[in-house]
Amino acid sequence: MNKTLVSIALWALGGWLLGAWLGAATGWALLALGLLAMVLVSGLQLSRIARWVRNIDDPPPPSVGPWDEILAPIYRKLKQNRLELQERARNFQRALLAAEALPDGALTLSPDKTLLWCNQTAAEHLGLNPHQDRGHSILNVLRAPEFAHYARQDHWDKPLVLHLGHADHTRTLMLHLAPYGAGQFLMVTRDITQIERLENTRKDFVANVSHEMRTPLTVLSGFIETLHDMPDDALTPEQRQHYLQLMAHQAHNMQALVADLLTLSSLETTPNQPGAPVALAALIQTALTQSQALSNGQHHFALQVDDTLQILGQESELASAVGNLMTNAVRYTPAGGTITIRWARQADASACYQVQDTGIGIASGDIPRLTERFFRVNRGRSRATGGTGLGLAITKHVALRHEATLDIESTPGAGSTFSLHFPADRVCAHKNS
Ligand code: ADP
Repeated sequence: MNKTLVSIALWALGGWLLGAWLGAATGWALLALGLLAMVLVSGLQLSRIARWVRNIDDPPPPSVGPWDEILAPIYRKLKQNRLELQERARNFQRALLAAEALPDGALTLSPDKTLLWCNQTAAEHLGLNPHQDRGHSILNVLRAPEFAHYARQDHWDKPLVLHLGHADHTRTLMLHLAPYGAGQFLMVTRDITQIERLENTRKDFVANVSHEMRTPLTVLSGFIETLHDMPDDALTPEQRQHYLQLMAHQAHNMQALVADLLTLSSLETTPNQPGAPVALAALIQTALTQSQALSNGQHHFALQVDDTLQILGQESELASAVGNLMTNAVRYTPAGGTITIRWARQADASACYQVQDTGIGIASGDIPRLTERFFRVNRGRSRATGGTGLGLAITKHVALRHEATLDIESTPGAGSTFSLHFPADRVCAHKNS
């Protein structure tokens, strides 16, 4: 502005001096000419400024006379605002990315519970389509009566556990609403399907163990009461012996159950380490001695064992797997049957431990369930032969910990073959071979 006033003053002074020398009319003419020139220059500068305004992110045009002083601070402020805006956008983006990375679902609701925003996990949990459902009431989107009741509460001390989905694909969610900001709501969703399943498995397991313990305990206490209430001479020594044998059998069943439970627990709690080379042939020999004792000469045993082969693993775990498969073959094969035990390297450098029997066999429908805890095809036969219903569950667990697979082939009435396949990188040869 000062520059403009100075220019006008200079033109006026020039006009006055010229007027004094060449006459007033010439002086006025010079002043008019000067002012016209100033208006023209100003017009030009304004048109350059107008062009700049259309691309306001560019630096302002240079040398626009008096406008320089106005444009420079405006441009500085604009630039600063732009940087601040970018920083805020970056912060917002970071917050959004953090919300997306949450392991839980999160969604925000307006005061009237319409959906404002949700992360991908919440969309997955609740089956939302973030684009379509945004702006709709969450009560219309999530149509579960328990949720409607929960969402209409005034405050939410406890989360809501909701079962969503259909028969074969149900999902258990834990939802928690909390007010925030100016009357808005934050809802956190967590998928607890797996936790609930584990909890159910745990409950079933406890129920099964109690049931398994109750039977021998009931029998034992029954015998003890009977013996206690009877006069000493009411039983012959043979009868007394018979009762004691039955009691010992039940006590043995309980001991076996506790031993298997401890083995399972240790398999579940001890970390899986690569282990050391284990000579499986030695373990097979020990198991054979036990199985022959169990068989009591009623079965024929055939052995095809490569005693140079070793497996990297845990000796006690492998011993239990080797023993379980062999004693099962004895227990489920009627007298006179043959049990063939093979331990050999395969063409692909893996190794296979196989127990084949000519026993009662297993119906194909039952095979997938054999490794479930406490699953038995024939409860009576299992119990009578001292079974706990945990042997194959343990064997499967041991196999997994040794990266091995357990394959079962069986024909009812003809016999079964149980094979443990160890991968090549677990197999090593005996140092003396
Ligand atoms: P159990 O202590 O009852 O034998 P396991 O887990 O070892 O428990 O085996 C589960 C079930 O698998 C057994 O109850 C039996 O029905 C079946 N089974 C296991 N091995 C054999 C086999 N060699 N032949 C026939 N059935 C078998």
